[in-house]
Amino acid sequence: MNAEIIAVGTELLLGQIANTNAQFLSAQLAEIGVNIYHHTVVGDNPARLKKAIVQAEERANLIIFTGGLGPTKDDLTKETIAQHLGKQLIIDEIAMQTILDYFDKTGRVMTANNKKQALVIEGGNVLPNEHGMAPGMFINAGSTYFMLLPGPPHEMQPMFRNYGRPAIEAEMGATEKIESLVLRYFGIGEAELAEKLSDIIDEQTNPTVAPLAGDGEVTLRITARHRQGSVARSMIKEMEEKVNLLVGEYFYGYDETSLMRELLKTLEEKKLTIAAAESLTGGLFQSEMTAVVGVSTMLIGGVVCYSNQSKLTLCNVKEETINKYGVVSEQCAIELAENIRSMLGTDIGISFTGAAGPDSLEGNPAGTVWIGISFKNQQPKSYLLKLAGSRNGNRKRSVKYGCYYLLQE
Ligand code: ATP
Ligand code: MG
Repeated sequence: MNAEIIAVGTELLLGQIANTNAQFLSAQLAEIGVNIYHHTVVGDNPARLKKAIVQAEERANLIIFTGGLGPTKDDLTKETIAQHLGKQLIIDEIAMQTILDYFDKTGRVMTANNKKQALVIEGGNVLPNEHGMAPGMFINAGSTYFMLLPGPPHEMQPMFRNYGRPAIEAEMGATEKIESLVLRYFGIGEAELAEKLSDIIDEQTNPTVAPLAGDGEVTLRITARHRQGSVARSMIKEMEEKVNLLVGEYFYGYDETSLMRELLKTLEEKKLTIAAAESLTGGLFQSEMTAVVGVSTMLIGGVVCYSNQSKLTLCNVKEETINKYGVVSEQCAIELAENIRSMLGTDIGISFTGAAGPDSLEGNPAGTVWIGISFKNQQPKSYLLKLAGSRNGNRKRSVKYGCYYLLQE
């Protein structure tokens, strides 16, 4: 299925609001393997909307409209579509009742144009609006499906999730099942990953492979369509193997997981305890760890040793180490990790010390970070990061790297 989204609203063209509806719907449709080739934005103008519909019909077999279902004069989407399809608008009793109930409950006076919101296009399926008054619609008009959704995101999103998306899937499901899987990567940029996989990404139509970057991580969504769900799943498996032959060293987990969750899973499996000494991360590592339920058997504790003085007093770093190498140093990171581990009697100690930014520290540019890792009865390890983000971006990224390096152990 190929879809086009037509967002209706002059306020979009004037730059008063951003077209987040198109963004939301595109992400949703990608999840079910519907291709989107065009986003259109058109003002509250029936003639131009009609032109946009005619154009969309030439290049899509599913057209999704948002906006213009409300009670005011400029809300003309359904009237224009009904006219275009040669269909009547009829009162939907359930929508009418919702409107009557609302006015009854709030004691407000209903005007004639409020009734307009209960009008739907004849022959279509009504999509209930659980957060507002105007219902949505799904219409099978021969070779093209039309879906009409309200403009306000808090009405549109639940309507699409609960009714719109299942309706589309049901139409597609008559012929195909859609399966998808998200693979998560860390330590590689989106551009580099896309470059390595360019042949695969460009050539594939089924399964499709779509990269997405955010928060210092890259994800790949593999979506496959087939009459049988089991075949779609094995197509995904096959594609996953092909992809990970090229970038498998950066792979760390599936779907909704995170580096922290994977780390905790591993610590739990291996029955290992951990303690942290945090300078530039200021407790962020422990904060993120404690955000996950059930960490008390793994995280024993730690300190925030932000100043040089506190590194001496709280973590017993040798004064000589700081004088000789500075706090942004491998030596300091290792002492912090080893000391916190032995002080709290854990299996692992981890430390973060460096220049978060925006200023440099001890001549090290912002983003220079040392991570120390100490395992009981093993040589300690240290890792140097050269990050280029904002102060808080660097702090968050440092925590992710900390998890990532621990996962490599
Ligand atoms: P209402 O019943 O509120 O009038 P409607 O379906 O008629 O809803 P519009 O009048 O077109 O929708 O838009 C109402 C509000 O919804 C806009 O002021 C805006 O805040 C939001 N909205 C509309 N379209 C979009 C869009 N494409 N992306 C994000 N927000 C939107
Ligand atoms: Mg409106």
